[in-house]
Amino acid sequence: MTRGGRPPLAAWYERHGRHDLPWRATRDRWAVLVSEVMLQQTQVGRVAAVWPDFMARFPTPEAMAAAGAGEVIAAWGRLGYPRRARRLWETAGQIAAGGWPDDLTDLPGVGRYTAEAIAAQVDGQDAPAIETNIRRVVERRAGRTLTPAEAAAASRDAGRPLTGRDRLLALMDVGAVLCRPRDPRCPECPLKPGCATAASPIVDPALGRRPRQPAYEGSFRQRRGRVLAELRAGPRPSHALDAAALAALVEDGLATLDGPLARLP
Ligand code: SF4
Repeated sequence: MTRGGRPPLAAWYERHGRHDLPWRATRDRWAVLVSEVMLQQTQVGRVAAVWPDFMARFPTPEAMAAAGAGEVIAAWGRLGYPRRARRLWETAGQIAAGGWPDDLTDLPGVGRYTAEAIAAQVDGQDAPAIETNIRRVVERRAGRTLTPAEAAAASRDAGRPLTGRDRLLALMDVGAVLCRPRDPRCPECPLKPGCATAASPIVDPALGRRPRQPAYEGSFRQRRGRVLAELRAGPRPSHALDAAALAALVEDGLATLDGPLARLP
């Protein structure tokens, strides 16, 4: 306990947590889902810059479902991995037509982590929701890699007495702000007592590491991105575009052919 009687993690989170992230101000299920889908593969700063306008444009699943897929893909802008925008639009259509399913993993593009993150943040459930930052924290505390079940138990242990939303966000913030991949700030960390790594001068960078994404520069992903950027500006003659990249976009439902023109769906 701190001198004021607050558990160290709770006291640290209250003072230093990233409370200004725009999606932290809402408990709306749709808004949190959109933030989680964006955060799956995009850095938090870039998501924070886009999310408010995106939510103003598509405030509900019904609003997004009523828009065309192309409008959602265009609004996705440069967040990357635009298949997420297409799946989000499909998810919106599914919710608008039939309501929220009991199991959120029934929705396109919603995996176990995202479902648990929504359950914890919106419904206050005590779901573990182990994302990259939390995995790094609990694995460094343990000093070894952990199975999913071990990581869930370790996050409950590290977060005690916090549960649900507060534990998820507090541990996430410790991972992002203090337990950083390269230079953890152990002296400031509320989880230092009992941490196997804090006493060691060498941090094993492999623990909790997110699989490295392949280089973007010169990649096929970059070629697809260039074609998509052109189509965001309006229909283009398909013969003037990178044919292989355009074919891949069409196959993924991110572009469509309309006679000699290619355009967003
Ligand atoms: S004490 Fe250091 S290594 Fe351990 S959880 Fe905190 S920041 Fe990470």
